[in-house]
Amino acid sequence: MNILVINSGSSSIKYKLFNMPSKALLKKGVIEHIGEKGSKIKSHHLGLRMALKKVNAVDAVGHRVVHGEENFTKPVLINAKVIGEIKRSCAIAPLHNPANLTGILACKELLPGVKQAAVFDTAFHQSIPQHAYLYGLPYEFYTKFGIRKYGFHGTSHEYVALEASKILKRPMRKLKLITCHLGNGCSIAAIDKGKSVDTSMGFTPLEGLVMGTRCGDIDPALVTYIMDKKKMGTKEIDYLLNQSSGLRGISGISNDMRILEERSRQGEKRAKLAIEVFVYRIRKYIGAYLSVLSGCDALIFTAGIGENQKGIRSRITKDIFAYLNKKPRILVIPTDEELMIAEKTYRLVKSSKLS
Ligand code: ADP
Repeated sequence: MNILVINSGSSSIKYKLFNMPSKALLKKGVIEHIGEKGSKIKSHHLGLRMALKKVNAVDAVGHRVVHGEENFTKPVLINAKVIGEIKRSCAIAPLHNPANLTGILACKELLPGVKQAAVFDTAFHQSIPQHAYLYGLPYEFYTKFGIRKYGFHGTSHEYVALEASKILKRPMRKLKLITCHLGNGCSIAAIDKGKSVDTSMGFTPLEGLVMGTRCGDIDPALVTYIMDKKKMGTKEIDYLLNQSSGLRGISGISNDMRILEERSRQGEKRAKLAIEVFVYRIRKYIGAYLSVLSGCDALIFTAGIGENQKGIRSRITKDIFAYLNKKPRILVIPTDEELMIAEKTYRLVKSSKLS
């Protein structure tokens, strides 16, 4: 069965075609600059048409969907009800869900009759207990507006945890894992017996670690303080925290960790400082999750920085487990969110044919 995996973002569509269950990657590509000024690709519909010309014999499609709120704890086959729920979640995830939805609707039209599945970034974290996902806000904000921690990168955290279980040759139910997804966006998760019990991202992907351009945890009072001081509106503060902060904001140089490591080696103070803040925040979360899990069998690194930047990994792990009698294994596992989406889609479609 050939499964096309679609990751439809705000201005790009990434696609991969897998043969399942062999997991063979048959084709991959990306259509960029969708809807941008001067671009010939005016819409996701057109972008997807271009992508579909490059692949053939698609038996099913798996879509990455960023936000599933509390409605989706696992992947689902897409029907009118699911589309309605994803549409409703656009209010809570305005930067991501609309683009994901456009991809789904375009595929429905361009591949009529082909089964489609939605795989949610938030689903894996739906096992987080209430004491960990509730914020210290009036309870009605949760019941009325759905304000709580959701967590993201779920597909990646789940994928590397499953791979770790294979590498360690131990069943998931016997493992306590801390997974660090360190890319442009960064998050860390505590996984107990295969279930996410806490993660650093929150209601949006802004909370937690210091990222390429996002600030991560800050004193919430700073939001109104900065708005006041700099005469900013909601759009400007949102831009500041999401786009001009993190590694980019601290260093004043770049959000790219490769460049920062290089510049730090050359003696650039702010590049060095950005790395130190980045590393310290991760160490702090690892400490917290050791306590959440009461131990840890393996610490896992994945994504651009986690997989490739040994120097950053060494700084994060230096003496971090020195006080533990039983030291966790440290593993580097390349993530493959698309393969995970293909596997989940394959299982769903196969079981729907049996029932
Ligand atoms: P995204 O969240 O956009 O998928 P990535 O997982 O590609 O991001 O990670 C991007 C970050 O990883 C950047 O800070 C980049 O400098 C760093 N990085 C280090 N080595 C590599 C590499 N070989 N390929 C891609 N990114 C890398």
